[in-house]
Amino acid sequence: MDCIFCKIVAGEIPSKKVYEDDLVYAFYDINPIAPVHILIIPKEHIKSMCEMEEKHEKLVGHILFVAHKIAQEQGFAEDGYRIINNCGENAGQTVMHMHYHLLAGQKFSWGKMD
Ligand code: 5GP
Ligand code: ZN
Repeated sequence: MDCIFCKIVAGEIPSKKVYEDDLVYAFYDINPIAPVHILIIPKEHIKSMCEMEEKHEKLVGHILFVAHKIAQEQGFAEDGYRIINNCGENAGQTVMHMHYHLLAGQKFSWGKMD
């Protein structure tokens, strides 16, 4: 399958690994938009949240748990962090393998997005 993130999981495309277990893989984003920008992805190819099925319910919970675990391990759990999932075209999803952005290391603003 021609999927960048599947290739990253398989080790065919190099990545800077942050965390790995049977279900998920986490690595640094190649084009960070915050001082800390980590991507957490399921090893299974799921196109996006929009394609999620009931059988993936636990997996998504696990991804969020792993995000917090990484935040604790890297020491930004207390200061806070932001998790983003871009789902589909309107959200601006560019890589069609479900992923969660874990952003930290700065204070984020909140408001109307462009
Ligand atoms: P999206 O816009 O789909 O939510 O986010 C895709 C993210 O994947 C972007 O932040 C982009 O920088 C990152 N990305 C795309 N290709 C690669 C790659 O080959 N390696 C890494 N580490 N990140 C990538
Ligand atoms: Zn994939």
